[in-house]
Amino acid sequence: MDKEENFNPHVECKFKDSEVENLIRPHEFSEFSGQDKILENLKIFVKAAKLRGEALDHVLLHGPPGLGKTTLATIIANELGVEMKSTSGPVLDKPGDLAGILTSLNEGDVLFIDEIHRLSPVVEEYLYSAMEDYTIDIMIDKGPGARSVRISLAPFTLIGATTRSGLLTAPLRARFGISAHLEYYDAQVLLKIIRRSAGILGIEIDDEAAREIACRSRGTPRVANSLLRRVRDFAQVKGSGKIDLFIAKYALDALNIDTRGLDQIDNKILKTIIEKFQGGPVGASTIATSISEDVGTLEEVYEPFLIKEGFLKRTPRGRVATDLAYKHLNLSRYDDSALF
Ligand code: ADP
Repeated sequence: MDKEENFNPHVECKFKDSEVENLIRPHEFSEFSGQDKILENLKIFVKAAKLRGEALDHVLLHGPPGLGKTTLATIIANELGVEMKSTSGPVLDKPGDLAGILTSLNEGDVLFIDEIHRLSPVVEEYLYSAMEDYTIDIMIDKGPGARSVRISLAPFTLIGATTRSGLLTAPLRARFGISAHLEYYDAQVLLKIIRRSAGILGIEIDDEAAREIACRSRGTPRVANSLLRRVRDFAQVKGSGKIDLFIAKYALDALNIDTRGLDQIDNKILKTIIEKFQGGPVGASTIATSISEDVGTLEEVYEPFLIKEGFLKRTPRGRVATDLAYKHLNLSRYDDSALF
């Protein structure tokens, strides 16, 4: 295809990438697809809190990246009709940083802390009394005159998000009244999300193409939305602007997107187990060291998708690559080249 000849200025993108994120992020429960059970429960908790005129109980959202934790937090705040202030674990360096945010919250507001597992222990401890009885102790003056003053906060809702729930301390975890684990999405739900995003962005896409993108999105809405935008780029430059199956496949192959939606690290994990450890069983920490990844990230971010899709099995003796993994990588169990 010739780039110049086929470029169609009439289908030039209406939005910048930075604006796109905000446009396509669902803002209310009705726009959020999938995670049905979680949504059903949250709707009840939000409604009950509103009926009682109280702040919603603190919420912990955990699960792999890109599944909608930030989106759900935004929706909860919108549905409660309150303001949301956002920060993240590593940003809150000192208790003073947290105190500044907490004292600026109005009654019922939401404080969203992303990557809450990365809070420093001193800040985390400071959060306990704020979560439990809406008070914090602030140190006034330094040296011998230093004293602590208790300040009352407006009742608020803390929404914590984490990809690594295993790293949360028991006292922090216990202070969340509501806890929800987000699961990977199936292709049918991702298809719905892609259609919705395409509608908002004015992207013409046919059903087969949308399904192809959905299947190759690693069960993750963030990946689905970003692939849709990248495929749109190909459609605009290399085609007529409309995304059909041909251009979708062409673009996804050009982008090195695996037919099963596995990313480079997923494939590296499977290849390592097969080529270096004869398909397993092999311990998680050995795999993690071999691919220079953190073992927690391997266990909580990568493995769940590989297990869900049937590429990997967790056994008491370690991880084992399944027949599907061999097939996917075009390797044979008895292939000598896979053993050395
Ligand atoms: P996380 O905080 O879990 O990393 P986000 O909430 O930032 O993930 O979601 C990533 C993107 O995916 C968002 O921009 C949002 O548009 C989209 N998204 C996530 N979940 C859904 C959903 N259930 N329905 C529609 N879009 C979603």
